[in-house]
Amino acid sequence: MSVLISANPRVQCKKCGRPATVRIRYAKLNLCSEHFTEYIEERVAKTIERYKMHSDLKKLLIGVSGGKDSMSLLYILSKLKSRYNIEIVCLHIDLGLNNYSEESKSIIIEASRELGIPCLIISLKDLIGYTLPELVEKSKRPPCSLCGMLKRYVLNLVGLEIGADAIALGHHLDDILSFALKDFLLQDLVDFSKMTPITPGIPGVAAKRIKPLYEVYESDLELYAKLKNIRVVGANCPFKYRDPITTSARKMLDELEEYAPGFKISLSRKLARNASRYVQGESIILCKYCGMPSSSGICGFCKLTMKVMGEPKGREAREKIRKLVDSSSFNN
Ligand code: SF4
Ligand code: ZN
Ligand code: ZN
Repeated sequence: MSVLISANPRVQCKKCGRPATVRIRYAKLNLCSEHFTEYIEERVAKTIERYKMHSDLKKLLIGVSGGKDSMSLLYILSKLKSRYNIEIVCLHIDLGLNNYSEESKSIIIEASRELGIPCLIISLKDLIGYTLPELVEKSKRPPCSLCGMLKRYVLNLVGLEIGADAIALGHHLDDILSFALKDFLLQDLVDFSKMTPITPGIPGVAAKRIKPLYEVYESDLELYAKLKNIRVVGANCPFKYRDPITTSARKMLDELEEYAPGFKISLSRKLARNASRYVQGESIILCKYCGMPSSSGICGFCKLTMKVMGEPKGREAREKIRKLVDSSSFNN
């Protein structure tokens, strides 16, 4: 992780000799703001290259929530897109969380215009007739697991409809390691095995997913957004909640990082090598209602809509997304 340091002429930026503003502990490096943000962009580029995320990649879809992680990812990838010759489209899913969603939307529209990146906004209410709070109320399911499932489903459908070669997720190093540790402690090995930098796609059914922030600390992203003056949503999601196991896992990983700076990065590289070995040949059954991947023959989206609305709505949702994409309701 990196920390801001107060200006001291004797502590100089390693690259340009000006007073350093950031100390990168794991790299034992002092940098000025400009060279720090460049360093983070190069870190992402190296991650992309290390895991060959750019191979066969021409069109990339980025899911953007308006928070610091996905907004930083959007800015970093828009800077790198010419290096890898990729076209970027971003997607925001409006969950109907009142002020939080309104603020997120305006931030994303503004950023996508500034960066010249086409942006698609899909409202959950328009898609299935309910906002996230209404679905939580009706289904009695925990908000974050419901939200995660809906976002994954919609992102995948949009990825397939626009012909994206991959979907970039904003999960950073701290997220990935704490989720992996939690999955391991609970012996949820199927989820654990997905904590790799790339999840391969299935042609016509599931878009490939990549995690370009696999080796970037959360605190570095926070600093990046701050030093680049990137507008991010100020309010917290009203449902924000971190379960006790994830909280403890983060605390333990933070302590190990404090003791041995760089620990998290080396752990992430081992995880990248080994995670998929824990579950091999997991069978994917296509949902009998919408044809999307499922573990039991009915996908999470169709199960939810059956419960809340009395019938599976996967096919209808795909049709609506197809029309949206065809009508080019992008904001640029
Ligand atoms: Fe969704 Fe939970 Fe994040 Fe809110 S905190 S946006 S409900 S995953
Ligand atoms: Zn410098
Ligand atoms: Zn389905």
